[in-house]
Amino acid sequence: MARPAAGLLALLCVASLPLAAQLRPVAVRVSGPKGLDSLARLGFEVAGMRRTAAGLEAIVVASPESERRLALAGLAVAPVSGVPVGPAGDSFFVYRSFDKPVTGIRATLLAWAATDTLIHVDSIGASVQGRAILAVKIGAAADAPGRPNVLFMGTHHAREWVSTEMAMRLIRWLADSAPPGLLATRDVWVIPVENPDGYQYTFTNDRFWRKNRRDNGDGTFGVDPNRNYPEFWGYDDAGSSGATGDETYRGPGPGSEPETKAIMAFHAAHPPVVSVSYHTYSGLVLYPYGFRDGALAPDLPIYRALSGSDLLPAVHDSVPNTSFPYYHPGPGWNLYPTNGEYTDWAYRAHRTIAFTTELTSGCCTPDSNLYYGFVFPDDSALVNRVFHDNLPFALAVIAAAGDPSMATGPAGTVPTAPRIESIWPETWVNLPAGGPIPFSLSVRGATGGILQRSLQSDSLSQGTVRWWWRSDVTVDQARAVRVEGTGLEGELISIGGAEDADLGWTGWIRTNDAVAGSYAWTTATNDTLTSPIVNLSGRSRLWLQFWTKHRGSTFTPEQRGLVQVSGDSGTTWSTVAAVEGDGSAWYPMRVDLPLLTGARGARVRFISVGFTWWLDAVGFASDSTGKFAALPPVAGLEVSENPVRGTQVVFSWPAGSGAPVIGVYTFGGDRLVSATLPSGSTEYAWDLTAGSRRVPNGAYLVVLQLDGRVMRRRLFVTR
Ligand SMILES: [Zn+2]
Repeated sequence: MARPAAGLLALLCVASLPLAAQLRPVAVRVSGPKGLDSLARLGFEVAGMRRTAAGLEAIVVASPESERRLALAGLAVAPVSGVPVGPAGDSFFVYRSFDKPVTGIRATLLAWAATDTLIHVDSIGASVQGRAILAVKIGAAADAPGRPNVLFMGTHHAREWVSTEMAMRLIRWLADSAPPGLLATRDVWVIPVENPDGYQYTFTNDRFWRKNRRDNGDGTFGVDPNRNYPEFWGYDDAGSSGATGDETYRGPGPGSEPETKAIMAFHAAHPPVVSVSYHTYSGLVLYPYGFRDGALAPDLPIYRALSGSDLLPAVHDSVPNTSFPYYHPGPGWNLYPTNGEYTDWAYRAHRTIAFTTELTSGCCTPDSNLYYGFVFPDDSALVNRVFHDNLPFALAVIAAAGDPSMATGPAGTVPTAPRIESIWPETWVNLPAGGPIPFSLSVRGATGGILQRSLQSDSLSQGTVRWWWRSDVTVDQARAVRVEGTGLEGELISIGGAEDADLGWTGWIRTNDAVAGSYAWTTATNDTLTSPIVNLSGRSRLWLQFWTKHRGSTFTPEQRGLVQVSGDSGTTWSTVAAVEGDGSAWYPMRVDLPLLTGARGARVRFISVGFTWWLDAVGFASDSTGKFAALPPVAGLEVSENPVRGTQVVFSWPAGSGAPVIGVYTFGGDRLVSATLPSGSTEYAWDLTAGSRRVPNGAYLVVLQLDGRVMRRRLFVTR
């Protein structure tokens, strides 16, 4: 049964106050992700989606002027029924303004601090209008170096009241109910209102105000505090706006706003190991990166372990009538690209494992056709549900602050070993931070020969606990790789990518928008792509590789892609992954498949549920391969062939403790190669065609310096 929205009754009761505000929520008819894109380009942040008899509608908050812009862009606009405009007043059961005497946020925090020895309140800066930005520490008053910092924040965006109530309840719960020992081992901070001016303004002037209250000097007010952080600030105009009147106005410069500066100074003084920034609403747990489609953080395994997957999510939504039963976890661009945003900044600037939670997916009461998201009911029991839905994730985050590499969540733990995440067309390896870095790559093709050994054609991106290493080696039909220096090997047992030779695949259509080869598969409707049968007998440590991109929306999470595998030729299927939201650039996915060990009749299928989806380079893979024989240990400096007749030669030597330095000289004394290798390296491959300059036939001298020893070998090149 639909619950009456008490908050709305309270809102309607104050409608006699002067209507200073001109903003109101409106519904805009859209035709799927393309329509959402055009809204973003017009400077609107989509607040939610609803489906009506007329079709899909996006909810945005618009002024009369911006409503005219929507109309000029050809978009049909209708007011959202049942949601009041204007000031909210300050007489709710649950919600209270920042300034309200006795029961307001500031008064409540100060009262708690005065009466509870576990609650301490600090001002970390002042807003544009001079309000204190209050940080609450629960536990001991002072930081201790042995206790990792954890930070929770609410209300960057003024109208997102439930995020402040979430933060307030978290403070109370930690002070009253935290298990013994938790506060003794963590420094837990909560900033309930990041944007106090905007928050206050939603009570006094405009319920739907989002930004801070900066006077932009041109008749407009407000900078979006969650587009003002210095990382990727102004990266493009899709992820924030340069127009002062827009809802996502990024401000005149990176970190220009005092509210942003306060958070930056707080991070410099108390760098959080993990943090959660609460917003409303959508039912999402987002993490870096958000600035560009397809960008994946090196610490992806930690983010995934904590926030879970669509099959095993960390946060369930128990609010009645919500659009979706759980919070979709994913990189920020699953919602839409954002720049100057908090989590990308905290992660890059302070190595914080940072999450944005969009609390609850919003609620529709079918009888009244009432839509609510920002205007969450003024109902303590419902707000408490949101809090208790999110408490387990908050506690998992606090626990993970001890050692993020040991983070655990519903979808498992963080792998401790290096891992190949894609074999082909690019090799992506996820590594423990500080461990050995790959120094070359051996690639075998379909015919079995080593097609290429490439040196240092790689890129390393360093995260907090994990690193990415991505080789830019692209070899047609690579079937196995050995990542030298890590002990990692991987093999594609099967591969398909819509090419002419990929027989036996059914469903979907071909497109020449491919990540490998000439074609990829795509669909824009309910359609299933099914692989032929692959025999995996005798195989273990199996996983599925695929490259994907998709045009979906987290506002319509029922539109999604499902990945299923079968070990019995397609008689029974198991769902092993789901793909949701927006992701308009190719990226690789790895799905472990322990259940297919040794299966003779392995198949995979991709089920589009109203999802616009592309796939390429799909293959069953194994971490265990016999494609590369182990090199026997060597006594001195050895070469793989002498004289050299091919295009490359491998030097190998006994392991030492320092960094090996390798040089190759002509007998005339010219140095052709000079390289300092990572400590522990025992191999180096010399590409005799590197730089498009073929090394001439003749005699050369190879010199290796290691741990004070010098080893030399004479080498002949004869082709
Ligand atoms: Zn927000």
